[in-house]
Amino acid sequence: MSRFLSKKHASLVPYVPGEQPRDMQYVKLNTNESPYPPSPAVIAAAAAEAGRMNLYCDPECTELRKKAAALYGVRPENILPVNGSDEILYLAFLAFGDEDHPIAFPDISYGFYPVYADLLHIPAHVVPLKKDLSIDPADYRGLNETIVLANPNAPTGRALSPEEVESIVASDPDRVVVIDEAYIDFGGVSCVPLIEKYENLLVTQTFSKSRSLAGGRLGFGIGCESLIRDLTTLKYSVNPYNVNRMTQAAGCAAIDDNDYYMENARTIIETREYTARALEELGFTVLPSKANFLFAESPAISGADLYAALKQRGVLVRHFAKDRIDNFTRITVGTREQMDILLDNIRAILNDKGGSPA
Ligand SMILES: *Cc1c(COP(=O)(O)O)cnc(C)c1O
Repeated sequence: MSRFLSKKHASLVPYVPGEQPRDMQYVKLNTNESPYPPSPAVIAAAAAEAGRMNLYCDPECTELRKKAAALYGVRPENILPVNGSDEILYLAFLAFGDEDHPIAFPDISYGFYPVYADLLHIPAHVVPLKKDLSIDPADYRGLNETIVLANPNAPTGRALSPEEVESIVASDPDRVVVIDEAYIDFGGVSCVPLIEKYENLLVTQTFSKSRSLAGGRLGFGIGCESLIRDLTTLKYSVNPYNVNRMTQAAGCAAIDDNDYYMENARTIIETREYTARALEELGFTVLPSKANFLFAESPAISGADLYAALKQRGVLVRHFAKDRIDNFTRITVGTREQMDILLDNIRAILNDKGGSPA
C-alpha cells in the first residue's frame, strides 16, 4: 500500500477473478464462459466498428437499448446497458445502499457482493443459506433492507421460482430487490415480467455467459423507468461511455442472432445433465443446477485436492476455500468433448487414490 491511498480503502479485499493462466493450454472450466464462439455476424459487426474507434461511442446506446427492449419484452426506458453486469451491480449498490441502509445477500453467493458493500461502506447483512445450500425466501421477506440475490445462485446453481422472488419483492415495497440473472438462460425462469408490477425490482442480466461475450463486457439493468433513471444518473456520474463501440455493435448483432445463442444454451443444458449423471456414477453429490456450471462434492477426495489434481492434468475448475463449501468443486459446463476429458481425468484421479467405484 502506498502512503497516498485513502484510509477508507486500507482494508479493502478485492474480488478475485477465476485464474486465467498462460503457462499451458488448459481445458478451461473455471469461469463459466461459453465454450462456443460468438456468431459470425457478431464478429463481423464488432470488426466493422473497430475502424471508427477514433470517435466516442453513443453514450445512450440507442440501438442496443431498442433491441434489448424487444428481446426482454420491455420498453427502452426500462433498460440500462452496462460494461458487464458487474457494473450494474456496482451502480445498484451505489444507488440503493449507504451507511444507514444495509444490503442483504446470502453467505454463499457471488463474491462481488461483499466487495462492493465493503468498497462503498454499506453494512452487509449476510444471510446463511439453508443446510441444503438453497435460499429460504422467508429469510428475506419484510427485512426492510436492500436485497441482492443471484437467481440461479452461484456457485450453487440452485434457482428460486418467480413466485418465490415475487413474495420477497412484494413484502417490502420500500426497499429495492436486485435479482442477478447472470445464469437465467440455462433453465431458470426470469423475473423480468415482474418489473411492470413492482417499482422496487431491478433485474440484471449479462451477455457474458449464455451469449459468448464475456470478453466484450455487456450487461443490462432492467427495471421501472424511475429506477433506471436513477441508475443512469449514476452512470453519467461515473463513466458515460461505459459500453464501447465494438460491444454495442456486437450486442445488437447477438440479439439479432438470438436463436444461435438459445440453441447453444440448450446444448449446454443437455451436456450439464449428462455430466451430472456421470459424476453421480462416480460417487459425487451434485447439486441440482439451473446454470452453466455444476457444484459437486465427492466423499473420496477433497475439493482442494481435486482442483489441484485436475490442474496438474490440464483441466481448470474452481475451488472456494470457504466455510461450508470447502469440499465442493465448481465445474463450468463446456462442450461434450471437454466434459469427457474432465470425466476421464476424474476417473484416473480417483483410481490413483484407490477409492473409486469406477
Ligand atoms: C458472471 C457473473 C456476473 C457478472 O458477469 P459480467 O461478466 O460482469 O456480466 C454477475 N453475477 C454473477 C452471479 C455471475 O456469475
